[in-house]
Parts: sequence; structure tokens; C-alpha cells
Amino acid sequence: MTTLYPFSASDLPVGEWDTPMYRLAVAQLDQTAERMKLDWNVWERLRTPQRAHIVSFPFRRDDYKTVESVVGYRVQHLLTMGPTKGGIRYDSDMNLGEVTALAMWMSWKCAIMSLPFGGAKGGVRIDPSVLSAAELQRITRRYTSEIIEVIGPDRDIPAPDLGTNEQVMAWVMDTYSQHKGYTVPGVVTGKPIELGGSYGRREATGRGVISCAVDACRHLGFAFEGARVAVQGYGAVGATAARIAAALGARVIAISDVKSGVVNPGGLDLERVDAWVREHRFLEGLPDAEGVSNSDLLELPCEILIPAAIQNQITEKNAERIQCRLLVEGANGPTSLEADAILARRGIFVVPDILANAGGVTVSYFEWVQGLQHFLWTEQEVNNRLIELMKQAFREVLAVATAEKIDMRTAALMRGITRITEAKRRRGIFP
Ligand code: NAD
Repeated sequence: MTTLYPFSASDLPVGEWDTPMYRLAVAQLDQTAERMKLDWNVWERLRTPQRAHIVSFPFRRDDYKTVESVVGYRVQHLLTMGPTKGGIRYDSDMNLGEVTALAMWMSWKCAIMSLPFGGAKGGVRIDPSVLSAAELQRITRRYTSEIIEVIGPDRDIPAPDLGTNEQVMAWVMDTYSQHKGYTVPGVVTGKPIELGGSYGRREATGRGVISCAVDACRHLGFAFEGARVAVQGYGAVGATAARIAAALGARVIAISDVKSGVVNPGGLDLERVDAWVREHRFLEGLPDAEGVSNSDLLELPCEILIPAAIQNQITEKNAERIQCRLLVEGANGPTSLEADAILARRGIFVVPDILANAGGVTVSYFEWVQGLQHFLWTEQEVNNRLIELMKQAFREVLAVATAEKIDMRTAALMRGITRITEAKRRRGIFP
């Protein structure tokens, strides 16, 4: 494709952010920007984050004498739209490029949902599964202190992500409040209800994923009820998506965790699964089910596949063997650019992460609003408003995809980037 710009985007250096995940996020942006004939100044601004913080700090292991140093990040991609917003991830593979890609996707996600935020992301490069609760608390409090000047209810508002949860958010909120001298619930979302969390936040991402799956089924002309669903990752997002899918009459045939998965073509009994996980922590050994590896799970015959664990799971290596009709991305960045092209050629409909998993940030927004107003909504109100916004966003993205004859990811990106571009144009450049 000829470019209107002084040089080709692929020639641009990607600098210190350069990692596979950052390259994926930028390649998605570049492809879409080229198609949109996006103003080069805006395009260039959106390729790199506005602010990126790297910190390193010590924390004490439980034996007291061992002190380890860890690296943490907080990246704010876009400051144009309001405060920035994005999760905190604890994972041993974290790096600046990964956090930046995730922050960029948050920008598009917030814009698609018309939320008044830019994208951010943060995290600490650790394996949370080998740390005690006391160690996690010390890491969380020190990490919060290290980034305290760049977060805040009007500045940048973290939330849970891979490896973090409500408890971690409570520690972030408490540490921030101790520094300020008064309680500041609005500094994080995804808090426990007792500390100003919102009803429905824990389930919001999974609920949004299933809302998109139901709408996509309707569009594709097959019934959600009775459809076989395979879910990679039985965590906050995946387990909720599986439970809601089962409650709506779908057949959840496979689920997995970090170790491995389980499959039962007749459908898994999720109450028994949850009881097993409470007792044994991992899915391995679940009665009445066969074991399956995380990679084989993706290739099972099913109608709906929901990757809800980590990035880079569907690539050019396995995309030809994926057998679902509908792929709904609960995780961030599960599908590579090459896989996208293969899936499109094979007629597999993809609801992209920046739309499918936007339910989490949407209810985070509700939580932030409730905090500012000191007013608690009921669970029903939260869920109804969430579904209304998810359905509206799905309709709008599908309308762009249909009108432009493009896939849902490109359509979603176009919607998000258009909104951001317009906001940038209206604000102008300082000074
Ligand atoms: P989680 O930590 O609650 O659950 C993750 C699940 O994936 C667990 O079952 C874990 O065992 C499994 N897992 C971890 N590493 C794995 C690996 N290498 N291979 C296979 N499985 C693995 O995390 P979560 O909050 O459910 O997040 C899952 C995904 O959804 C992430 O990509 C996250 O960025 C995305 N996401 C989460 C939210 C949210 O509100 N929590 C919102 C939007 C997107």
C-alpha cells in the first residue's frame, strides 16, 4: 500500500519499548492508521506512551534476612482524554514493551466504550504464585510508594489484572491513603465492596465477554444456547465467563489454568470444578474429565473459544488448526497479526480484546463515578448499565466492520482511534 507520509511506519524505530507484544500493538495501530489515512502527527504520537516509569526496589522475604530487588513499571499511554486507567499485573515475564502494549490497548478500549480515560498499565516483574501473602503485601506497598506521585483519582487509577486481585487493590489504596493522610478510595478500582468497591466489578469482564459472544452468535446466526464453549484460563475473567455461559445454557466443555486443562465433551459441572479448585488449587486431576494441555485446548472442536489467560496464544503456528466458529478474546493480545489473517481467511469471526474484555474497565468507571459521588449503585443497576454499553459498543463496531468490509479488530481500532484523534484536534497543541 502506498503511504501518504514522509516515510513508512515500519521503518520507524520502536526504541526501548521493542518487544513482540509492543510490536503487535504498534502493527495493529499502523495497519489501521494507514487504512484511515490518519493524520501523521497523531499517528506518531499514539505509537509511543506519553509517560513511562520504571522503578526498582527491594523487598524482604518472610525469613527476614533475604532481601530481593524487583523491577516495576507504570506506563501512561494517553493523557488527552482524562485521567489514565489500567491494571496492575504481577508476572515474571513483565517488561516495558509488554506494559506499553497493554497501556495502548487500554486507550483504544476506553475510547471504544466512550469512557473519559486514557490508557495506562503497570506491574511488577515477579511470580506471585511463589510468594506468601505477607510478601505480596510488602511488594505491593513498596511498589505503590514508588509510583505514588504518578497515580491518583484525577491522575491515573490502577485496577486488578493478571496476578493481582481485590486484596492487592486494598493494599494500594491503603498505602496511598497513608501517604496522603486521609482515605482516598478513588485511587484504585476493583476494590473490595467494604472499601468502596462496586457490585459487579469482579464479574464485569467475564460478563462483557459473554455479552459479546451472545451478540456475535446472533449476528452469525447460530444459537448460544447449547453451543460448546472452551475457555483457556480459569481466573477472574475466564471463570466468570464460563459460569455465565453455562447459566445461559451453553455447554462449557473445557477450561484450563497455568498448569493444564480439563475437558469433558458432555459439559463440565462448574460447581464441582469450583469445589475441586478450592480444595486442590489447580484443575489437574478433576474427576469426570480428561486432561488436556493449554495448547491442545485451543484446538478442540467447539463453537466458541475464549482465550482468557495470557497473550500470544493463537499464532501462525496453530491458527490453521483452530476449530471454533467464534473467537472471543477475554485476554489481552492473545492473537498475533499473522493468526488474525489466517482466521479471517478461514471465516472464523473474532471479537477483539479491546471490545470483548472492555467490561472490566467499564465497571471500573462505574466504581470511580460511585466513589466521586459517594453513592452506591445496586448490582442490578451496574449489570444493566454494563450490558447496555457493551451491546451499544458491539453494535457500533459491527456497523463499521460491515460498512467498511473489514474485520472487527480493525473496525474497533478505527472507532477508538477516531475518537481520540478528534479529542486531540479539539484540544490543540500546547503552547
Ligand atoms: P487471573 O490471574 O485471575 O487468571 C489468569 C488465569 O490464567 C488463571 O487461571 C491462571 O492459572 C491462568 N494462567 C496464567 N498463566 C498462564 C499461562 N502461561 N498459560 C495458561 N494459563 C495461564 O487473571 P485475569 O484477571 O483473569 O486476567 C486474564 C486475562 O484477561 C489477562 O490477559 C488480562 O490482561 C485480561 N483482562 C483482565 C481484566 C480483569 O478485569 N481482570 C480485564 C481485561 C482484561
